[in-house]
Parts: sequence; C-alpha cells; structure tokens
Amino acid sequence: MKDLKNIKKDFTIFQNYPDLVYLDSAATSQKPTSVINAVSDFYKFKNSNVHRSGYRLAELATETYENTRIQIGEFINARSSNEIIFTGNTNQSINYVAYGWARKFLVSGDIVVLSEMEHHANVVPWLRLKEEKKIKLLFIPINKEYRLDYKPIFENEKNLQKIKMLALTHASNVLGTVNPLKEIISYIRRKKSDIKILIDAAQSIPHLPINVQKLDIDFLTFSSHKILGPSGVGILWGRENLLEETDPFFVGSHMVETVTKEKATWSDLPDKFEVGTSNLEGVAGFSAAISYLQSIGLKNINIHEKDLTDYALKIFKQSPFIKLFGPKTSDSRLGIFSFELKGAHPHDVSHILDRQNIAIRSGHHCAQITMKSLGVSSTARASLYIYNSKKDIDQLFTAIHSVKKTLKI
Ligand code: PMP
Repeated sequence: MKDLKNIKKDFTIFQNYPDLVYLDSAATSQKPTSVINAVSDFYKFKNSNVHRSGYRLAELATETYENTRIQIGEFINARSSNEIIFTGNTNQSINYVAYGWARKFLVSGDIVVLSEMEHHANVVPWLRLKEEKKIKLLFIPINKEYRLDYKPIFENEKNLQKIKMLALTHASNVLGTVNPLKEIISYIRRKKSDIKILIDAAQSIPHLPINVQKLDIDFLTFSSHKILGPSGVGILWGRENLLEETDPFFVGSHMVETVTKEKATWSDLPDKFEVGTSNLEGVAGFSAAISYLQSIGLKNINIHEKDLTDYALKIFKQSPFIKLFGPKTSDSRLGIFSFELKGAHPHDVSHILDRQNIAIRSGHHCAQITMKSLGVSSTARASLYIYNSKKDIDQLFTAIHSVKKTLKI
C-alpha cells in the first residue's frame, strides 16, 4: 500500500514546480511519472499501428491496446471487454449515445431527463437532439442542500409514459455533490423498468468505485485525463445489446467489415465505434494510470479525500466572508469547493492566488445551467485529488485572506 504522505514524489510536475499548490483536479488531474513513462515507452518500444499488421511490433501495440480494454472493463465490472469503447473524451462518449442510440430510437414527444447539475457535455448533445427530433428535456432541480429533488418528475404519470432516458452526472463538477445513484436508479426502475440510464462519471470515477452491473445502468462515460491518465482518451461503456443496436457516430476506416461501391457493413463490437487510428500511446498511458490508482486503492483514496474535505469544510464554516456552493458535510460529496469571496470577482481571486502558486479555476465551469440555479454567473473553484494535503488547504485559505487584503474587502 502506498503512503499518501509522500505521494507528490510520484508526480514529475511537483518535482518541476515544488511550490505548486494544484487545486484544479476537477478540470484535469496531474499525471504520475509512471503514466508519462508509459506514453513515452509506447513510442520507444511499441510504436506501430494496431489491428492491421502481422509483425511482432504491431502485435505488441495491439496487445497493449486490447489489454487496456480488458483492464478498463474489469475496473468498472463490465460483462465483456466488447462493451468498452475508446473515444476521445466524455463529451464524445455522450455524443455517441445521443446520436447513435437516442437519435435512432427516440421520437417526437419523448422525454429525456437531465439535471441542473449537468456539465455542458451532458446538455448540449441533448439540446441538439431536441431541435432535430422534437423531443422534450426535463431538468431535475437542485435543492437548498445542493442535492437533487428527483422524485417529482417521475411521479407525474403523464411524464413517466414519455420518459425514455435519464442522462445524469454521478457527481457535480461545480458543487461536489455525489448523486445517490443506487437510490435514484432503483426508484426509477421500480416506476418504469425500461428507461435507459446514462451516467456521466467524468468527475466520480477518479474517486469512487463504479460497478456498472451493480448500478443497473445502460451507458457510462468518462475521460482518462481526470483519472491520472493522458488526455484524448475517453470511455464509452454500454450494455452489449444496446451497443449492438447503436449506430456508429463516425464512419470510415477500421470500423467496417466490407466495403463495396454500393455499401459498407460495420465491424463487430467494439471496433464498430473506433474509426481510424486511435490514441494508442494515450491508451497505453491510461493503462498505467489505472494500475497506479489500483496500487493505492480507491478505499485509501476515499479515506484521504474525506479527511481533506472535512478539514476544508471546517475552515469554510469558520469563514463568513466566503459563500460555499455545495453540501456542508463530506457525506456523498467530493472535494470540489465552488465559492464566492464576497466583494471579489472569481477571476480576480484566481489571478491573485496564482501569484502565490495556487492553481484554482474560476468561471462557469461549463455548467451554465447550474450557475443559473445558483443565481451567479461564475464561481471560484478549488478541487482536490490524491496528491493534495492539509498544507495545500491551509495555503489556499491564507491566500484567500491575502486577496481580501489586496482588494480591501
Ligand atoms: N462531465 C463532467 C461532470 C465534467 O466535469 C467534465 C469535465 N469538466 C466533462 C463531462 C467533460 O469531460 P471532457 O472534457 O473530458 O470531455
């Protein structure tokens, strides 16, 4: 078991910037040196294209690529590695479902349920589908405790008949709220068992164990870059029978079985969705990322992050000049803290913090619907991951005090 106290040593970036206080992991995580090495080793020792040639180097590249598929399948407990599709990121994965499945099967008047917590990645594809197919979107509201009041939408019998899909984030990238999926899904399945359920796990998968079979969902989407891996690699998981009936989003080479002047036929799963040459070195890095994460263990990560989250929440509570948008306890919550320093613009806050080597994000966080429900146009956001410490949190709050002084608020 790795000791999280010295974990920064595993990350090259903290050796290059020893003073960096990185509090923007909800945007993207830092990469362990083992991941960086896996990417560069791919080029040094395995570089060739996959699935195409019979020589040993190509077999090595193919083996790396396909073994990663198996590894990811096991990580989320997929029934088969055929259910794991490599995409570019979460955005793309959701587009595959909206265009490949929903566009094919939904008809005018059908309802897709989203929530006010969604990242634009899980809103915009549905908005476009709404225009094209005349479907209806309903948004589960956020309550005063920054949690979802999901029942009323499904209690309306007229709605229920038309609801075909729920596309929901597991965790909010703004509020840190972790939605109680087990509870929500069993409630919905009892109301109507055939509603298709897509879960956007982009924020949750770096922190929480996910078991697609136990969750009883239909599609899951996430990105490698938020879970210690390279950018440009995303995952779409879907039940095999649903992926079979889903149309490919992109068509061209590699995803075809036969091509004539008249017609093309698609490859079997999972190749049907993987058009052209994939991000092979990124997939190799992703494999190293999952291995690194597993060497620490999600349980350990959870204990560490809960400790940090409790610590930060206590200081937020003692700071009346800061408004925190998000649950006030660490129960069902990630270490994502969106806040407003009263009297200061979030961009000014992040700018002044940056001068002290503290990296946080400010803006609408690609969640303008969430911002609207909070009644603000932007927030400052500090987000934690395995390499953060209580010292980082202390530095954050010391720096916030200095912002107050600088801006005389
Ligand atoms: N969903 C959520 C909840 C997110 O936080 C993000 C990234 N901020 C995304 C989707 C989109 O991820 P990507 O940019 O990797 O497609």
